[in-house]
Amino acid sequence: MKSAPFDYLRPKTVAEASVALGRRGANTAAIAGGQSLMPMLGLRVALIDLLVDISRLDDLKLVTETLDSLWLGALTTHAAIEDGKVPDLFNGLLRRVAGQISYRAVRNHGTIGGSVALADPSADWPCCLIALDATVRIAGRGGVRVERVADFIHDSYSTTLTTGDIIVGFDIPAPKAPLRWGFAKVARKSGAFAHSIAIATQAKDGAISVVLGAAGPRPRPMTATANQLTAPASSEEQVRAAITADFDAHFADLDAYQKRMHTANILRAVREMR
Ligand SMILES: Cc1cc2nc3c(=O)[nH]c(=O)nc-3n(C[C@H](O)[C@H](O)[C@H](O)COP(=O)(O)OP(=O)(O)OC[C@H]3O[C@@H](n4cnc5c(N)ncnc54)[C@H](O)[C@@H]3O)c2cc1C
Repeated sequence: MKSAPFDYLRPKTVAEASVALGRRGANTAAIAGGQSLMPMLGLRVALIDLLVDISRLDDLKLVTETLDSLWLGALTTHAAIEDGKVPDLFNGLLRRVAGQISYRAVRNHGTIGGSVALADPSADWPCCLIALDATVRIAGRGGVRVERVADFIHDSYSTTLTTGDIIVGFDIPAPKAPLRWGFAKVARKSGAFAHSIAIATQAKDGAISVVLGAAGPRPRPMTATANQLTAPASSEEQVRAAITADFDAHFADLDAYQKRMHTANILRAVREMR
């Protein structure tokens, strides 16, 4: 199928793009890598009057590293991260996540900003950025604001973005020592969206975090599981009980099969982390 007709604009600055996206009465969308939006337009799942092309805005391409954090501009592609073209302060976690997103053709164009803006429940970056406690910077008609990615994503395909908002990039706090992590993903075939994504990390002080994605409308930290794993000499039985408690708290709709699959996936990530 072919998309319905729309106007096209390529603004030169983020401010111009924000104004264009906020045009009164127009149904507008920003396009970055186009890997999700183009199919949606082609299938007419999305219908717009104006496409605002942000893919060449240099302000969205910045990547900077400081002692405290890594800044990734919204237009950073999955391929650039996979290829190590941006610093990975997280002991290889970013490269591993990027390299397992879809196929290389999608990774060449798809961006981290587009992935988080879309907030697909099965997408990898939201889960990873929540696990790393990243913040997102958004430029909009009301100025610039910064939010934790965990608060930015509300629900399935639902975020705090409003008309005229553009994700500028992500600030990811650097760990104090080489990060220990595990990343496990269940997908029907290589390159397909995941049925389960589990990320476990352990900081220098021993604090553990576990985030589960593709199990509900948005990725959720598995707090009871993380607490149980942090406790000395906790048995696998106790960890499994904590996982069940987290399912009840955050993913109450899972059936028995899904619970078994996610539990196995979480335990794989935890084993890799240790
Ligand atoms: C076959 C296939 C398989 C895939 N498999 C996976 C997978 O396994 N895991 C995974 O995580 N993803 C997967 N994806 C999605 C892929 O990662 C996309 O690249 C990503 O979801 C969207 O990035 P994009 O830059 O292409 O965004 P676009 O398609 O350009 O835009 C997507 C949406 O985000 C908005 N947007 C884009 N950039 C911004 C911004 N800076 N500020 C505000 N809004 C913005 C757009 O308006 C649009 O609504 C897959 C895609 C395909 C086609």
